[in-house]
Amino acid sequence: MMDKMGCNSKQEKMQSVMTSTGFIWDSQMLEHKCLWDTEHPERPERITSVIARCQELGLLNRCKILAPRKATEAEIAAVHSPAQFGTLDKICSSNNNNMGKFEQLELEAAASKYDSVYFHPSTCDSALLASGSAIELTQNILDDKIRNGMAIIRPPGHHAMESTFSGYCFFNNVAIAARQALASGRAKRILIVDWDVHHGQGTQQLFYDDPRVFYISTHRYENGLFWPNLKESNYNWIGDGEGIGFNCNIPLNKIGMGNTEFLTTWHQILLPLAFQFNPDLVLISAGFDSALNDPKGEMQLTPQCYPHLLSPLMGLANGRVAVILEGGYCLNALAEGAALTLRTLLGDPCPLLEPIADPMPELVETLLNCMTVLQSHWTLGLGLKESKQGADLCVHVPTLRYDYVPVQLDKYPTRDGNPVTSFEECSPHDDRLNQLILTTNLAVPSSKLGIAFSVAANYDSSSKFKQSLSITGEIQIGLEPELKFSRPFGLMAAIVGGQCTSGIAIMSKVETIEVCKYAMDVLKLARILFIDWNGESDIAKGTLLKNPRVLYVSMRETSCQLTSGINFRWVENNNDDVSDANYLAALASVILPIAYEWCPDLILVAGPEEGREGGYGFCALPTSPAGFSKWQSIFGFEFTEQCLLPTLCRAVFGKATTEFFQQQC
Ligand SMILES: [Zn+2]
Repeated sequence: MMDKMGCNSKQEKMQSVMTSTGFIWDSQMLEHKCLWDTEHPERPERITSVIARCQELGLLNRCKILAPRKATEAEIAAVHSPAQFGTLDKICSSNNNNMGKFEQLELEAAASKYDSVYFHPSTCDSALLASGSAIELTQNILDDKIRNGMAIIRPPGHHAMESTFSGYCFFNNVAIAARQALASGRAKRILIVDWDVHHGQGTQQLFYDDPRVFYISTHRYENGLFWPNLKESNYNWIGDGEGIGFNCNIPLNKIGMGNTEFLTTWHQILLPLAFQFNPDLVLISAGFDSALNDPKGEMQLTPQCYPHLLSPLMGLANGRVAVILEGGYCLNALAEGAALTLRTLLGDPCPLLEPIADPMPELVETLLNCMTVLQSHWTLGLGLKESKQGADLCVHVPTLRYDYVPVQLDKYPTRDGNPVTSFEECSPHDDRLNQLILTTNLAVPSSKLGIAFSVAANYDSSSKFKQSLSITGEIQIGLEPELKFSRPFGLMAAIVGGQCTSGIAIMSKVETIEVCKYAMDVLKLARILFIDWNGESDIAKGTLLKNPRVLYVSMRETSCQLTSGINFRWVENNNDDVSDANYLAALASVILPIAYEWCPDLILVAGPEEGREGGYGFCALPTSPAGFSKWQSIFGFEFTEQCLLPTLCRAVFGKATTEFFQQQC
């Protein structure tokens, strides 16, 4: 891959990437509200609570604020039937003035024709603004005016179907933005990740036979008992015609699922699919109703986990990610989840999480079902095939269960039974949520990346090197030269001391082991994950493997005697032509789950040899979910040809690392 791209083209590409984060919203969208049910959960405070928290954390000042606009009739018509706009326009404009009791009753009667919808005289304008804002955000990203961004908009969109309103949704904002992106010719493969707790059946239907759009949704399902109660939300709906294999439903059949279940889903299914699909644009249907305390979702995802779901996706599509608000009804959890998501788009490190545990058996069943139906289209289950569960995958016989008994209604109920929960209201998870919000450390080290050269590395072209890193002024070259340790030790101390998020040290492997020992003996770290990208076991023999405080991962193991640690032997490929895709799969489905469970204090990576296949896969590490921003990390290099280094630096700064080609593992 490196030969194809070459050092120079890489650097040029790197310099052309814009770095800012866009933010779009409009106060006009606060006018849309339910006149006959003031407790309705889809309410204006959903936006104001997010804005307030983002301001409190100083995030909006750091964003490029985009000007919202209404979507045009033609843009709506690219997704919806003509009647969709016509009907909404008519309902709203005929009730524009003199809102009395009678007019309210008229609006409520109109709403009763649709499943879970209310109308307000301003609804059409708000819905057009929401869709127009989603388009603006996406177009700004595709025009390279911003790198990524967030749209805090309502009404939401993912339940809106081609010709009907549904589930608080009128126009499908994400689908409309995707259609415009495709029509502009600037996006050819769009990944839509829908992490709202409800299935976005509207989005699924709109792209069901379209291989250009891969729709992946996690949603509460309970075998059909949870709204929208559809058979088509189950795992066996994987697309149709040319789009077969480009739709993935991950139905959650039990309430109470949390960080463990969502991260496991990401590692075992979502990320392997996303890496292989290799999108050129990522759209997130970002509902926050899977969050702890949400009265609708009844899941337990902590707001602090959303950055970990987003972070790895930012390594795709050259960093082109648009996060577009859908649901979320516990105002506290919504505001926190959305603000932390925006913070991640801005490149701040992911907050620390509690260690994950074993996922619920209901989730394992779902994941095995999903893998089984998708395995003829994508490579999945790499992490399971070698294990005991892997045997289960080989013999796994998925069963299809659908418990919902449909009822025919003359009209739909128009008053929602589910209240939102505010800060003051009690719920079983309120204490935990408030505690998490108050105690999560959101401090950001003053330096994102430190760079150090060891004396032994004898790296004499550091000025050329600095030039190649001119992408940012944030890089500190050579930390703390007065420290009595050689520079890599100083860098390590700066990382552990919280002055610096990550570091790159140009040093030999012997020195890398010395740095590891220093972290244990002097800095007193209890758990160090040591990833050896070259995996020559001789460096690990002796000290590292015998020490229970070090978890050693060899990515390219040649010795058959090595029995401790984690060793990738790549037997079939004889270790020689292992591609980026293999490394990414290993990273997602093996290393990350272990890292999230073990929670190391530090991740130490010995870098790959220049010119070897898999080098750029290595550069995916910093944007991977283990947050190599989440845990402080240091990358050691012993090589003097520094082609990989700028790419790695870009990755540390949250930029996409490479264009992954669609490869089979
Ligand atoms: Zn939802």
